[in-house]
Amino acid sequence: MKSLRSEGLTVSMKEKGDVIVVGGGVVGVCVAYYLAKTGMTVVLVEKGEICSGCSYANAGLITPSHSLPIPAPGVIKQACKWLLQEDSPLLFRLRLDWRLAYWLVRFAAACREQPMNRAIPVLRDLSRGSLDLFEELILAEGLSFDYERLGLLCAYTTHSGYEKGKRDAELLTRHGFAPRVLDGKHARELEPNLGTSVIGTVYFEDDAHGNGYDFVTQMSTAAKRLGVKIHTNTAVAGLLIEDSNHICVKTEGGDLLGRNIVITAGAWTSQFTKILGVEIPVEPGKGYSVTIDRPDLSPKIPVLNMEKKVAVTPIGKRLRFAGTMEFSGLDLTLNERRADAVLRGGLEVISRICESAECRTLVWLEAMYARWSPDHRQNARLSSRLHCYGPRDAWIHPGSHHR
Ligand SMILES: Cc1cc2nc3c(=O)[nH]c(=O)nc-3n(C[C@H](O)[C@H](O)[C@H](O)COP(=O)(O)OP(=O)(O)OC[C@H]3O[C@@H](n4cnc5c(N)ncnc54)[C@H](O)[C@@H]3O)c2cc1C
Repeated sequence: MKSLRSEGLTVSMKEKGDVIVVGGGVVGVCVAYYLAKTGMTVVLVEKGEICSGCSYANAGLITPSHSLPIPAPGVIKQACKWLLQEDSPLLFRLRLDWRLAYWLVRFAAACREQPMNRAIPVLRDLSRGSLDLFEELILAEGLSFDYERLGLLCAYTTHSGYEKGKRDAELLTRHGFAPRVLDGKHARELEPNLGTSVIGTVYFEDDAHGNGYDFVTQMSTAAKRLGVKIHTNTAVAGLLIEDSNHICVKTEGGDLLGRNIVITAGAWTSQFTKILGVEIPVEPGKGYSVTIDRPDLSPKIPVLNMEKKVAVTPIGKRLRFAGTMEFSGLDLTLNERRADAVLRGGLEVISRICESAECRTLVWLEAMYARWSPDHRQNARLSSRLHCYGPRDAWIHPGSHHR
């Protein structure tokens, strides 16, 4: 990835746009769609196919209930216990990297009551707003992506976990949520295919779920209908500050000239922030999803194993298990033990579905914020620094799922 200054360089321009969007995941296609709606000319560039990154096979949950930020009191202690277990929900591959060290310090600093309490209403409003937009888009664009609004069962298999779940439910109640605390028996009346090892649950009935891949590909079609030009299999190799009003996006297929650029490159975002000379506390985090054909005894309501941090989501004709977070940079190697742990963590909280299901395992990288910036100070700083570079505006959305 190169950063070049324009002096003395001749650039053969191929295509122009008011905005160039880099990355064709859920964030990129939605940004392109909404910008095109305002009448701007938009070009989107994606290094693979549309929706070939993290948006492809995530857990598919749309969950305002996830308004507790990941950095929270107690998380560091828990993370230290997990640190050395190869199949734990969280794994750090420690390496000599000042960016990772900086990220860890910021993350640790955010694990306090005050930042957590400030983040909750921001996350709540953002995810409720997202949920409303999903429903608006379904009607406006006729989207069909196995969307269902059946809620989410946060399941616990230990008494200490269940007690913590009840405390979190109380906290979220103070922020306007209406979680229902249900013991195992009552939860199984609601979802008969919940596993017998579950001793208690917290049920959030407003949450929804769907198929991320279908949503993103259909949104890219809707964006094209609005005039967005989409270049797939076109990796952005560098950025060139053209003049005070333009930025040149260099790709293998030619150059693109934009008045604005939006970086929605997910886990690869730091490659761009580096060349733009800004530091945002975001690290790639590796997760796994395992998908099987939906068995007869599949739950209808998505279930989250809160202790193992694994989601089990029925998506159309499939059942998906997704989870774990591994900090090992931009490494997409599949670790069988961690993939197995995801499957086991999911199976622990649902009925015995079948003895030998054929599994499709995938590895994903997503961008993890070290902390959430509730007052958007971070974003404002970022934008003003980028202004110094010349382009009218450069926006960076690392695309973490809000937390
Ligand atoms: C296991 C797992 C489960 C998850 N479950 C959920 C869930 O249930 N609910 C939820 O809300 N979130 C979930 N997430 C998070 C969610 O999937 C991500 O936050 C979201 O998909 C990020 O979207 P994105 O568009 O930012 O990134 P991506 O989908 O990764 O898209 C980024 C795109 O940028 C492209 N790109 C990168 N570099 C370049 C370049 N140089 N040139 C051109 N293109 C480039 C990539 O190819 C990629 O297609 C989960 C994540 C994981 C790992």
